[in-house]
Amino acid sequence: MKIIFSTFIFIIGGVFGSFSNVLIYRIPENISIITPSSFCPKCGVKIRFYDNIPIISYIILKGKCRSCEGKIPLRYLLVEVIMASLFLLSYIKFGFSINFLKSITFIFFAVNISTIDMQKMLIPDVLSLPGLIMGFLFAFLSGKFLYFLTGGIIGAVIPGIFYITGKIIKRELMGEGDIIILAMIGLYTGWINVFIVLFIASLIGSIVGISLKIKKKIKYLPFAPFLFASAILLIFYDFSTFLPYLFFKSYLK
Ligand SMILES: [Zn+2]
Repeated sequence: MKIIFSTFIFIIGGVFGSFSNVLIYRIPENISIITPSSFCPKCGVKIRFYDNIPIISYIILKGKCRSCEGKIPLRYLLVEVIMASLFLLSYIKFGFSINFLKSITFIFFAVNISTIDMQKMLIPDVLSLPGLIMGFLFAFLSGKFLYFLTGGIIGAVIPGIFYITGKIIKRELMGEGDIIILAMIGLYTGWINVFIVLFIASLIGSIVGISLKIKKKIKYLPFAPFLFASAILLIFYDFSTFLPYLFFKSYLK
């Protein structure tokens, strides 16, 4: 039975991944997400339902549009595979529970916002604000409202300080978008994890940033993917087992 449910969850994840690809393409371009139905961005031809199956269609079509043979970016496949896998991992970790719903909701927003930030250097409010509101809802349902609410507040205050400092010294240290997504991460993961997420994200971010700068590959390094990746890591792996804040453990559980 577990196999059947796992397969089902993986497919659902793929469908959400496919929908995310629509959002990732259309939100920055200001195209309605409902109409028109899926089309090839190169030749404009309407994509048939049998060419719109998550993951499978990309492989069958070898990453090319059926009518114009234009290349479909690998991103489409990656978003679907990542979403499906993370949905499946959430089910394995939490089973059917409120934490499962919370996990896949967070993953959905995380993948969408991170990909748009990577592609367009933009954190759209139409995604980050609903993500924040859902975070409030799950915090409320958790029975530990204060713990998660404090997370949201600390998540907003820390980048807020960097943001204001940046305004004063006239150098952008952190964007407005970062304030919303760190507040969101705090709401979903709780206050102690805001510090851990910031620590891991800055560490990995600087390693990647420095190595890319040496190769002169980029000018702008999006921070959202690092923040979200660290937060997702925290969802699946409980760092509190070895970090020196065991003192707080009773408070965390
Ligand atoms: Zn085409």
